[in-house]
Amino acid sequence: MTTTADRPTTAAAPGSRLRRPATLTDAFLADLVARVPGSGGATWPLAEVYTGETLVELPQSTPADIEAAFAAARSAQQEWASWPLRKRLKVFKKAHSLLVANALTTADLIQAESGKNRRMAVEETCDPVMVISHYLKRAPRLLAPVKRGGPVPLVSSSTEIRQPKGVVGIIAPWNFPFATGLSDAIPALMAGNAIVLKPDNKTALSPLYGISLLEQAGLPRGLFQVVCGEGPDIGPTLIDNANYVMFTGSTATGRVIGERAGRNLIGCCLELGGKNPMIVLDDVDPEEWVAGALFGVFGNTGQICMHIERIYLPESRYEELKARFVAAAESLRIGAAYDFGPELGSLISVDHMRRVHSHVQDAVAKGATVVTGGHPRPDIGPAFFEPTVLEGVTGDMLTGCTETFGPVVALHPYRSIDQAVALANDTDYGLNASVWGADLDRAVGVARRIHAGNVNVNDSLATAYASKGTPSGGVKQSGVGARHGDNGLLKYTDVQNLAVLKKQVMGARPGQDYDEYVKGMLTGLRMMRRTRIR
Ligand code: NAD
Repeated sequence: MTTTADRPTTAAAPGSRLRRPATLTDAFLADLVARVPGSGGATWPLAEVYTGETLVELPQSTPADIEAAFAAARSAQQEWASWPLRKRLKVFKKAHSLLVANALTTADLIQAESGKNRRMAVEETCDPVMVISHYLKRAPRLLAPVKRGGPVPLVSSSTEIRQPKGVVGIIAPWNFPFATGLSDAIPALMAGNAIVLKPDNKTALSPLYGISLLEQAGLPRGLFQVVCGEGPDIGPTLIDNANYVMFTGSTATGRVIGERAGRNLIGCCLELGGKNPMIVLDDVDPEEWVAGALFGVFGNTGQICMHIERIYLPESRYEELKARFVAAAESLRIGAAYDFGPELGSLISVDHMRRVHSHVQDAVAKGATVVTGGHPRPDIGPAFFEPTVLEGVTGDMLTGCTETFGPVVALHPYRSIDQAVALANDTDYGLNASVWGADLDRAVGVARRIHAGNVNVNDSLATAYASKGTPSGGVKQSGVGARHGDNGLLKYTDVQNLAVLKKQVMGARPGQDYDEYVKGMLTGLRMMRRTRIR
C-alpha cells in the first residue's frame, strides 16, 4: 500500500454539502479502476477535488504490470494493424457518436477528479471528438502509399509506405486528462498502433471511461492499455518498452523523458509548459478583448498550458484597460458545483494551490503589487484560489520568469510595439502568444514577430488549439514536435522506402566501354534535372 508520506495533501471542504452527480456511483468507479493493473497491492487515493474526499483507491502498477501491459498491447497491435484502414476508421466513426452521447457523464468525471468548472469540463469532452472528425477525413490520404519516381525513369520506382511504429507510450498531465489521454492516442491508433497510457494518478478516471467508450465502439480489447503510478516510479519502464513516446507535461519532466527516449533511440514528442504573453494594441475593442482575455487568463483556473500569464498594455490606454480587466476579474463567480453556475473552479490540489500562492507571495516580497485577489479560498474548497492580477512583476520573481499555472496574471505597460515584442519574446518558453487589435494587418504583423509555436490574433488560445489541421506545438523550452496537422498522425509511423528496379540499368553493361557509359550517364543527369518530380 502507499505510505502516508506518498499520499497527497488533502483537506475536507467546509461542511461539504456538495451533491455528487448521480452518475458517479461506487460501482461505476470501481469498474473503471478495475482496468488498471496493480499486482503489488499499492493504491492511490484519487480524490474529489472540490471536497478532498477519496473517490476511489487507484491501483498502482508495478514494473512487471507495465511489461505485461506492453506485451498484451503488442499482441493486440499485430491483429489491429492487419485490419484494412477502412475497418479501423469505422471504429472511430462509432466512437465519435458514443463520445458525444456520453459527454455529460464524461464531464462529471472530469469535474470530480480535476475540480474544474462545468464549462471547461464540457469543452474538454469536445477535443477527442474534433480530433476524430479531422483524422477520419485526413487519415486515408496520409496513410495511402505514395509512389515516387526512382533514380532511372520508367525502369525504377520508389514507394513511400507508412507503417505503424508498434506500441506508443503516452504520458499525460492532470490539467486536461480526458483530452491529453485520448486525443493524442486517436491518430496513433488510426495509424495501426497500440497504446499504453500513463495518466496522472489524480485524473485517471476520465481517460479510463473514454477508453471504455472506444471499446464499445469496437476497439479491440487489449489494444489500449492503462498503467498508473507516480511518474518517476513507472516512467522509465514505460519508456524502455515503448516504440515512441508522446509526452505532455512540464518542461522539467520533458527533459527527463527526452533524455531517456534519446538513449533508447526512439522518437518522442514533448508538449511542455509556457509563459505566454498577450500584447494589446492601442486600437483594441475593449469589450471583445476583456471577454477574450478573461478566458485566456482564468479559463481552467489558469491551468491551461497555453493560458496567458503576462499582458502588455499600451501606456496610452493602460489605466482604462486595466480598470475594465480588473472589474471583470472581480466579478467572476468562483464555486464548487457540478452545474454551469461557477465561472472559475478549483485548482487541482492543495499542493498546487500552495505553489501558486507561493509565487504570489514571492512577487509581493520582491516589490510587486496585488491589484486584486492573491488569496486561497478555503471557505469554498481546499484548493480554491482567487483570480489574481499583479503589477510590477519583474524577471527576478518566480512568476516573472517561470510558469505559475494558476489564476494569476501580471499587467505591464509598454511604450512602443518594438518594446512590447521584445518583452513578449524575453522568455525561455515559446508555446503560445496572443495579439489584440482592430487593424488585423497590423495585429498579424506583430504576431509574426513573436517566437511561439502558436499565436492567436484577437483570441487567447482556443482558435489555434482547435484548428486541428495545423500543427500545434511549442518552440524553445516549450517542446519538441507538435500535435495536430498531418504530422500529428505521421509521427506515429515509420516510413518504408520500397524501391523496385525493373531492369539492371544502373552501371555499365558487361563489355560496355566505360567512357561511353559515363557519357550516357551524364546526359541522363542533365535530362533528369528537367523532369518533374512528385
Ligand atoms: P508533470 O511534468 O509533473 O507531469 C506530467 C505527467 O508526467 C504526469 O503523468 C506525471 O506523473 C508524469 N511524470 C512526472 N515525472 C515523470 C518522470 N520522471 N518520468 C515519466 N513520467 C513522469 O506536469 P503536470 O504538473 O502534471 O502538468 C502541468 C504541466 O503540463 C504544465 O507545465 C503545463 O504547461 C504542461 N502542459 C503542456 C501542454 C502542452 O500541450 N504543451 C498541455 C497540458 C499541460
